[in-house]
Amino acid sequence: MIDSRIYLSSPHMGGTEEKYVKEAFDTNWIAPLGPNVEAFEKSLEEYLGNKSFVASLSSGTATIHLALVMLGVEQGDEVICQSMTFSASANPIVYLGATPVFVDSEKETWNMCPIHLETAIKDRIAKGKKPKVVIGVHLYGMPFKVDEITEVCNKYDIPLVEDSAEALGSYYRNKPCGTFGDLSVLSFNGNKIITTSGGGALVSKESKHKERAIFLATQAREKAPHYEHSQIGYNYRLSNICAGIGRGQMEVLDKHVGLRRDMHQFYKDIFAESEKVSVFSEPSEAYRSNHWLSCLQIKSNNKFTSEDIRLALEVQNIESRPLWKPMHLQPIFRNSPFYGGSISEELFKNGLCLPSGSNLTDSEKQRIKEVLKHFV
Ligand SMILES: *Cc1c(COP(=O)(O)O)cnc(C)c1O
Repeated sequence: MIDSRIYLSSPHMGGTEEKYVKEAFDTNWIAPLGPNVEAFEKSLEEYLGNKSFVASLSSGTATIHLALVMLGVEQGDEVICQSMTFSASANPIVYLGATPVFVDSEKETWNMCPIHLETAIKDRIAKGKKPKVVIGVHLYGMPFKVDEITEVCNKYDIPLVEDSAEALGSYYRNKPCGTFGDLSVLSFNGNKIITTSGGGALVSKESKHKERAIFLATQAREKAPHYEHSQIGYNYRLSNICAGIGRGQMEVLDKHVGLRRDMHQFYKDIFAESEKVSVFSEPSEAYRSNHWLSCLQIKSNNKFTSEDIRLALEVQNIESRPLWKPMHLQPIFRNSPFYGGSISEELFKNGLCLPSGSNLTDSEKQRIKEVLKHFV
């Protein structure tokens, strides 16, 4: 008999989600607005603190799209984006007819390298076009070098979109991820740290930005009894049903972050003595990752590869996956400018994401350990 599949990251309900969804049914709030939407936004605002204003939207991708619209990105503009990320960070640039300019990672956080970022900005300006926006990503929950990246953005007066889709519950210098961008992005897709089955949120520092996001996300309807439009709108609001799931998930967010961090420690313990494999960890006390996904890296001159580990896990019906393939290596983006060296390319070649869900049982962990111990 084959054991049931162990997934990288699967939804983990806390228990009260159904109650909020049922409330929506009982009161007939089956719409992209309602009490759950408002309560979910309020709980996110309280969680993030720092005078955050949250507009809940239909997905993280829609949120990045809307953030770029709000920052005035238009046809022909250039937008800088971390190369090593999920394609959803970069696709909305293209939706707007703008050009992505990709920047390599640094080794410590695997996120955008501030030195290459500055080189890219200088070179694009020298070539005649100042980038309109910078998109930084906290990969796998690890905060990017917030101080350094923010300093470069401020120096050239370019707004920062913080893609915190993977990093709700992570902290940098005791401040939560999702509060560092001019506009910040959260995702509640099924595989993320908490889920609404599908959803996202735009975080800003001013109520007028939240209002504008909601205005644009509800078809940009001007105040009038009839339908009056002076701008292009979108249908990007989160449904009251999904927001009910989100309300329940917020009640267990901290607990689930704790369990993900325990998973990370579980892998750290397995590979503690290993000279061949390292587990991706915070570079210093300033960083606190939610460890949305735990990842390993094969050190150089090794007899086995990360693909060998992936295949060995697969034989036992355990899912694992290579790291994000950098955007500058993707066929669809082969003509986009890229600044950097080979860091993200090497990470892609030697890294692996491991099962990291907050709902893994002791016997599932034992199955994982049985495979991994052969690679220590
Ligand atoms: C998941 C993810 C997104 C997109 O969010 P969706 O809600 O799936 O649209 C964007 N960026 C990163 C880094 C992600 O991991």
